[in-house]
Amino acid sequence: MSVSVLAVASEVFPLIKTGGLADVAGALPAALAAEGVRVVTLVPGYPAVLAALGATVAHPPRDTFGGPARLLAGQAAGLDLLVLDAPHLFARPGNPYQNTDRRDWPDNAFRFAALARVAADIAMGALGGWRPDVLHAHDWQAGLAPAYLHYAGARVPSVMTIHNLAFQGWFPAELRAPLGLPEGADTIEGVEYFGGIGFLKAGLRFATKITTVSPTYAAEIQTREGGMALDGLLRARAADLCGIINGIDTVTWDPARDAAIPQCFDIASIDRRERNKAALRRRMGLSSESRGPLFGAITRLTAQKGSDLLAAVLPEIAACDGQFVLLGSGEPALEESFRRAAAAEPNRHAVMIGYDEALAHQIQAGTDVIVVPSRFEPCGLTQLCALRYGSIPLVAAVGGLADTVTEATGFRFHPVDRGELAAAVARTAERFADAAAWRAMQRAGMGEDVSWARPARSYARLYAEARA
Ligand code: ADP
Repeated sequence: MSVSVLAVASEVFPLIKTGGLADVAGALPAALAAEGVRVVTLVPGYPAVLAALGATVAHPPRDTFGGPARLLAGQAAGLDLLVLDAPHLFARPGNPYQNTDRRDWPDNAFRFAALARVAADIAMGALGGWRPDVLHAHDWQAGLAPAYLHYAGARVPSVMTIHNLAFQGWFPAELRAPLGLPEGADTIEGVEYFGGIGFLKAGLRFATKITTVSPTYAAEIQTREGGMALDGLLRARAADLCGIINGIDTVTWDPARDAAIPQCFDIASIDRRERNKAALRRRMGLSSESRGPLFGAITRLTAQKGSDLLAAVLPEIAACDGQFVLLGSGEPALEESFRRAAAAEPNRHAVMIGYDEALAHQIQAGTDVIVVPSRFEPCGLTQLCALRYGSIPLVAAVGGLADTVTEATGFRFHPVDRGELAAAVARTAERFADAAAWRAMQRAGMGEDVSWARPARSYARLYAEARA
């Protein structure tokens, strides 16, 4: 029997992406199709989404908090989409959440409540012809959807997935009535959170099932240290909470067929990676003389990702005659510290501040090591790409990093501090000097299944449980 799911996400690859959520929302539907699950994804009508949408069917206008909106049904990039075209909310340039000064859009509560409310309406049959069996809400932006279902008295099963507990969607209590939440909803048993309204809290409170993106992170978020103030609620819902590790899109990320890299290769021709390393060094202005490993990182520059720790171990990388290439953007002070390091030793350290898909592929294909020193990491995708591309992951043993990188496929360190990372860099360089051992690790990593096949089966099972 085929199951239909309405996924609700604020970003979806390749149409609009700021992080791993987009990758998941973009790749899971195709993998679930193989499990007999049909996914239709509801996304906001950002300019980039509307531009990519093929022929559409428009559903009648509805009011979305102060402006007219249409729901467009169409396809793009192989995805079945429902797009909430509400110009007063989404017809804005740039980042989905922030203006050009990196401040949150002041009406984010209404923008994403509108998305969630439309999702709940659809789940309750607003489209007439099609009604999903399960509503799957991703992150705080979709968090109110299970709450709207609850307060409407609808018995539609729902799943709430946490991609990053650090982003919770908190808004002032005065917005309760304007957001269409009933009187009495603002209690601890409802959507109330620290005196205001918590969008993610609402989803965690009312969803039938809760998932996050790795088993270790599922355990960490139930602790005081990792729970970011939601651990109590998560412990209370432990019976309905599980961790399902992410996959990666193995078509987009396929070293044997990757148009973005100079030299394709596979597990039987790992030696061909050398050409990618040489090309990457040339592109980034790095010397070809260094005998240590070429380390790389592709990341948001934030404390979560341990970017400060990374900047702090550049001397250790230099000490083992290694090199370092960074692709990332984020906190200005971190951007500046990497820029300074690269300017001081341009043959050894190279930094590209910005977002660049093609360069991300070239770094995966050309580095020896991908470093992921996150203080916490729900799943992490760059280490999965690294495994597939024969770059050895060096990771903090937390969250999804701990679940996906073993001693056989990478290097792990814990606790997450400068000293342990520095020691792990030294261990990595030592192993790199043993070419046979290094090649064995690359083979082990490239042999791992990092596709969506297994996770998709887990989600399909979970949807069945949510319905039962
Ligand atoms: P996040 O917490 O940012 O979602 P993930 O590791 O789960 O971290 O996913 C990040 C995704 O974004 C990966 O696919 C990674 O390759 C990509 N990425 C991050 N920064 C950049 C960048 N500057 N340029 C290109 N891709 C990037």
